[in-house]
Amino acid sequence: MAAEVIDGKAFAADLRARIATHVAKLKDEHGITPGLAVVLVGEDPASQVYVRSKGKQTLEAGMASFEHKLPAETTEAELLAKVRELNADPEVHGILVQLPLPGHLDSDLVINAIDPKKDVDGFHISNVGLLATGQKSLVPCTPLGCLMMLKAHHGSLSGMEAVVIGRSNIVGKPMAQLLLGESCTVTIAHSRTKDLAEVVSRADIVIAAVGRPEMVPGDWIKPGATVIDVGINRVAKADGEGHRLVGDVDYASAAEVAGAITPVPGGVGPMTIACLLSNTLTACCRARGLPEPAL
Ligand code: NAD
Repeated sequence: MAAEVIDGKAFAADLRARIATHVAKLKDEHGITPGLAVVLVGEDPASQVYVRSKGKQTLEAGMASFEHKLPAETTEAELLAKVRELNADPEVHGILVQLPLPGHLDSDLVINAIDPKKDVDGFHISNVGLLATGQKSLVPCTPLGCLMMLKAHHGSLSGMEAVVIGRSNIVGKPMAQLLLGESCTVTIAHSRTKDLAEVVSRADIVIAAVGRPEMVPGDWIKPGATVIDVGINRVAKADGEGHRLVGDVDYASAAEVAGAITPVPGGVGPMTIACLLSNTLTACCRARGLPEPAL
């Protein structure tokens, strides 16, 4: 039986609409406009596209968007000064420094200079520690989006066997922490995992966050499992005319076995920016001592 397709695009549109409703209410009842500042250093074309899209969706949700474009030769001291300026700005509730930074800048140093309460990417070590210890934090957007879709699909995840392929700080590790928080039995697989096929075949939930086109075939998937494909890979089209986007999972074969699956594009991707807006709204409510919306 073909898998149910988890429509991340529709899910994200719905989440953005709920965020916009809360933002309008904040404005009406308290005169507050949540604000997101995005800092882009250099001219990386993919980063420029992401930043433009983030700015557009921030405005569409009724929030204030502050874009700070700095030249590639910006020094660490200059970038840290910009971060401090945004930390102190009461109109800015969320700060995002677009990664990757040019090679001469230390990303860890810069990220850890952001006020953790404004760290809407959830990458500051304080937020990482809070998440790991099950305390209230700001959670990285991509894993947060994956969790929202999983919970909407399954309700409770308690006791489920989850395998996360990939151990990055941005996706794999926080995803595993979130699933642990939902009482899943969690395995983190990575490039040195010995028998990946066997590990994946045990999973009720598979999260693929590797960055290798279509590396997870359908015959690794347990029948009925839920497959969340985080990968975004550009591959040449068979006819040699341009490129297409594929995930880390071989969608065609996996969709024949899985119970539910996210497509690429249109799965996890759209949820990431929606969760960035959600984190900004959360950060704003916390900063102003208002109840957090249950999105
Ligand atoms: P990364 O390169 O930081 O980490 C990749 C991980 O995969 C590593 O931990 C590595 O151990 C593991 N890995 C590599 N080869 C492997 C193999 N053969 N078998 C098992 N594990 C292997 O990547 P990342 O930042 O976590 O991103 C992963 C993918 O997700 C990329 O395709 C990226 O573009 C995509 N991504 C998508 C979104 C989104 O919004 N949808 C957000 C972030 C990342």
